[in-house]
Amino acid sequence: MKNYKIAVIPGDGIGIEVMNEGIKVLNTLSKLNKDIAFNFDWYDWGCEYYLKHGKMMDEDGLEKLKKYDAILLGAVGFPGVPDHISLRDLLLKIRQGFNQYINLRPIKLLTAQDCPLKNKKVEDIDMVFVRENTEGEYAGVGGFQREGTKDEVALQTSVFTRKTTEKVMEYAFQLAKSRKKLNKVTSVTKSNALNYSMVFWDRIFKEKSNVYTDIKTESFHVDATSMYMLQRPESFDVVVASNLFGDILTDLGATLQGGLGFAAGANINPEREYPSMFEPVHGSAPEIAGKGLANPIAMIWTAKMMLDFLGHEDLGERIMKSIVEALNNREKLTPDLGGSGTTNEVGDRICKIIENIG
Ligand code: ATP
Ligand code: MG
Repeated sequence: MKNYKIAVIPGDGIGIEVMNEGIKVLNTLSKLNKDIAFNFDWYDWGCEYYLKHGKMMDEDGLEKLKKYDAILLGAVGFPGVPDHISLRDLLLKIRQGFNQYINLRPIKLLTAQDCPLKNKKVEDIDMVFVRENTEGEYAGVGGFQREGTKDEVALQTSVFTRKTTEKVMEYAFQLAKSRKKLNKVTSVTKSNALNYSMVFWDRIFKEKSNVYTDIKTESFHVDATSMYMLQRPESFDVVVASNLFGDILTDLGATLQGGLGFAAGANINPEREYPSMFEPVHGSAPEIAGKGLANPIAMIWTAKMMLDFLGHEDLGERIMKSIVEALNNREKLTPDLGGSGTTNEVGDRICKIIENIG
């Protein structure tokens, strides 16, 4: 009997709503499988916590989180709190503090009708982004000069270390090998304009490709990549990208698979020295929060990624099958998918299907 300790940080807005559905699915699975159990500890950290206590999470937050097998996070962000604070003091703090240097974001179409592109089959859109997650453009290095004067200057410095860049590329190549799709890694770059960081990135990508000679490689500028993702999404397998480029392109990718309501994500510390954190790509979407309109599929898929990471791919597979069945059936889906169902109803329906599958 495996008993997992999971830290749950629902966060803000729709993060809270979708988290309930993710937990519901995990509880359903553990009810059906006597050999797996979850102990969930809930943390009310986020923007509301910030407005009450002046901080996004407790000072010893990382110390508290250290003891868990994994962390589930909904979304953070709230109109009254500047985005750079909510991101920096919670999400980035955990990603960086726990050296979760891989951000894994699958982009996979589950039902053809949810794709905004014409005539796409589900197998046409099936790629995984490996996004660098602890440094790069989001390293937080920079400052203001001559602040408050008309000569004011803002500096934001990217930081790419050889150690992390190598490990990110290594992860991408290994993933391409294990996926057995096109056996290909695409590197996203912009070395014509970013003449230090991306030149360095390209150099390390080349070094790794010389090691993995059985894996095909290609390298595109980020602007061209966004075009190719629309023109010929079927040509992508594993895509490796920096923190900023990966962030932007995965929202585009989310659209290809039917919207942010489908976009699951994982912040991974591959060495398992610290817990990894599982978090959908979407934010707290304040304008639809509290109305039961949020699509919980991204969060449920995210829970599946956590199960995979914990070594329960069979259970993860069951979640995916149930999501697909719920989508094909079209009954009571959320408004982003053209339905009139609520967050809660979608979660209930997926749990029902899981129970029926057995
Ligand atoms: P962040 O910077 O935190 O990623 P964002 O500004 O990118 O936030 P999101 O909160 O991710 O914005 O959402 C953008 C829009 O997409 C939302 O306003 C909402 O309309 C839609 N959206 C996002 N997630 C969902 C979801 N799970 N279900 C339905 N619609 C969603
Ligand atoms: Mg976003």
